[in-house]
Amino acid sequence: MQTSFPPSAMAPECRNGSRPEENFAQLIAHAERPTFSVEFFPPRDDAAAEALHRSIEQLEPMRPDFVSVTYGANGSKRDRTLNAVRDIVASTELRVVGHLTCTAQSTAQLEQVVDAYGEMGVDHILAIRGDMPGGPLVPWEPHPQGLRNATELVQLVKARGKFCVGVAAFPDIHPGSTPEDDVAALLAKQAAGAEFAVTQLFFRPDGYRSLLARMREAGCMLPVLAGMMPVTTIRQLDKFAELSGAPIPEPMRERLLAVAGDPDQVRATGADICAELGCSLLDLGAPGLHFFTQNRSVATREILSRLLAPAR
Ligand SMILES: Cc1cc2nc3c(=O)[nH]c(=O)nc-3n(C[C@H](O)[C@H](O)[C@H](O)COP(=O)(O)OP(=O)(O)OC[C@H]3O[C@@H](n4cnc5c(N)ncnc54)[C@H](O)[C@@H]3O)c2cc1C
Repeated sequence: MQTSFPPSAMAPECRNGSRPEENFAQLIAHAERPTFSVEFFPPRDDAAAEALHRSIEQLEPMRPDFVSVTYGANGSKRDRTLNAVRDIVASTELRVVGHLTCTAQSTAQLEQVVDAYGEMGVDHILAIRGDMPGGPLVPWEPHPQGLRNATELVQLVKARGKFCVGVAAFPDIHPGSTPEDDVAALLAKQAAGAEFAVTQLFFRPDGYRSLLARMREAGCMLPVLAGMMPVTTIRQLDKFAELSGAPIPEPMRERLLAVAGDPDQVRATGADICAELGCSLLDLGAPGLHFFTQNRSVATREILSRLLAPAR
């Protein structure tokens, strides 16, 4: 695996302008370059839909290896996700990964969503549990006719059709779990048929290194894409710590606070930090970087341009 970051635009499998035939797991098994993927959330109104379209238009020429669309934790907004995925499938040549959670939905409802993905030609699903309203620390309760965890969701999806399934991983340990339980869950999800993992947002390369070491020692060989999101405003510092489940490293906080008076500098510093983290992760052997875009393309494009710069 080379650690430099050639753009996916260089990938021969993407040059002919049609959706790739091999699935993402097959691609990652032989890719001699890191992959790059982006995540969107479903828009809630026309203006947000317009913004999402613009972002996709700006990112599609960079040929991400896939784009994914998040799913409301309790399924209540599932039509928004399905509509957004349908739109992307219809208007682009991109490989699309539909997210699916099993919180507050019966098995029958979950099967309907999997079938809906299949009918629109989406054959990649990120199978995650979802959280209770109130967040990941609120004790999780299964639906009375539903599933108990993401492992069972992977099984359900695999039983429903020929889907390539991804799952969640946590370099900073899931807030309701332990390092051992996290790896046991990943091992179970691999046994259930998952073929790749994508991490939660994190900022310490050591967290990724140690997750990978624990996984490999336990026999879990899933490729783990590193989830990345740059800090673009000072207000996000605490928000991101909450999301990642770990404090922001002090040197990173200090670098951002040093330019707090200048929003452009905050944004540029956030992109620098994210690009540096990306480089470290690729050097550690991360097979790809996955960008949580918040439906905007600017930060992702800025970071990619830094990663592509010759003087790394
Ligand atoms: C990349 C990424 C994308 C995400 N996208 C979304 C999204 O679109 N929508 C959304 O609502 N949330 C999303 N989330 C958040 C996710 O729903 C939460 O982090 C949730 O708290 C955990 O999900 P999980 O799939 O890791 O759960 P699980 O893998 O089910 O783990 C939850 C608990 O169940 C246990 N467990 C798992 N399998 C087993 C088993 N076989 N036997 C016994 N115990 C088991 C685990 O140890 C753990 O304690 C995403 C997270 C990531 C990292």
